Amino acid sequence: MSDSFRAILISRDDDGKQSVDVTDMTDADLMPGDVTVAVEATTVNYKDGLAITGKAPVVRRFPMVPGIDFAGTVIASESPDWKAGDKVILNGWGVGETHYGAYAGHARVKGDWLAPLPASLTPKDAMAIGTAGYTAMLCVMALERHGITPERGPVIVTGASGGVGSVAVSILSGLGYQVIASTGRAAEHGYLKELGAVEIIPREELSGAGKPLGKERWAGAVDSVGSHTLANVLSMTSYGGAVAACGLAQGMDLPASVAPFILRGVSLLGIDSVMAPKTIRLEAWRRLERDLDHTKLAAFTTSIGFDGLIQAGHDIMDGKVRGRLVAEIGDRADS
Ligand code: NDP
Repeated sequence: MSDSFRAILISRDDDGKQSVDVTDMTDADLMPGDVTVAVEATTVNYKDGLAITGKAPVVRRFPMVPGIDFAGTVIASESPDWKAGDKVILNGWGVGETHYGAYAGHARVKGDWLAPLPASLTPKDAMAIGTAGYTAMLCVMALERHGITPERGPVIVTGASGGVGSVAVSILSGLGYQVIASTGRAAEHGYLKELGAVEIIPREELSGAGKPLGKERWAGAVDSVGSHTLANVLSMTSYGGAVAACGLAQGMDLPASVAPFILRGVSLLGIDSVMAPKTIRLEAWRRLERDLDHTKLAAFTTSIGFDGLIQAGHDIMDGKVRGRLVAEIGDRADS
């Protein structure tokens, strides 16, 4: 059927057992929205891995088309802001969680959720950045707002060979920061240096129970790991420094003390990409266009097809994914 497209659908049976299947859908199957987009590229974020494996309650409505990010072209619009032919991106807003998401040939969403595809990026480039990269930029912007300049000292990035981490290392080094990368993967030291890290710290140095205060080692941090790692990062942040916390790859807990806050004036900056206001999103994408060296995209991106999405969701949960994954998706005619 010419108007059908492939989609990935997550379902739960009466016993709560989850299944993930490839199916055919048409526009009539999509959820309400005022803009329909032909999805051209998507990606696999940690959250997509949680949704596909069912390891955390990311999906809050079944069945669900997963995929929290897409880039594509508007094919129908009742929104005054968009017309057919416009190139758009979408990150978050509950898409792939409560509203049918990116892992389908078409997506129908609210026009308010869309942003213009930055002029210098292809849909594939935008998804090489994706929510992970846009979140990395939100972290960098938060550190900057706090006055963390390269002159203040090094910045540490945890979970450095993951998606958020790889983009954060790339952006920060491009902006002139001395980047310390923390990783559990010895094999990725060369990769992280290629992205611009000047020093590598093994993950184990930060992942165990630590002291309330340690030697001051960095002025700022982008933490995608949480738990003991975040506590240790805080304890080694220098006087007046700041830590942008966006992730929970080690855990959601924060077994820390208040010592860094009350004795060193350290700030903990919370970062959320999903509901971030539009002005901040647009600023983040402008900054990604300007400050992320696009020649580095290839270094941290692996291309997978639509058929690789489900396996990639498992792989990212198993810590097997380096950097960012991109899947180009066409409708049935070109998939
Ligand atoms: P990835 O899986 O690509 O990266 C996570 C990295 O964390 C891994 O590559 C690994 O890095 C490290 N890691 C994994 N497990 C552990 C562990 N047990 N202990 C310590 N380090 C670990 O995921 P993303 O980059 O897509 O996302 C990173 C985190 O950020 C996730 O928790 C995600 O949910 C969160 N996130 C939050 C957003 C927000 O809006 N706040 C938006 C986007 C992501 P290495 O191998 O180098 O050690």
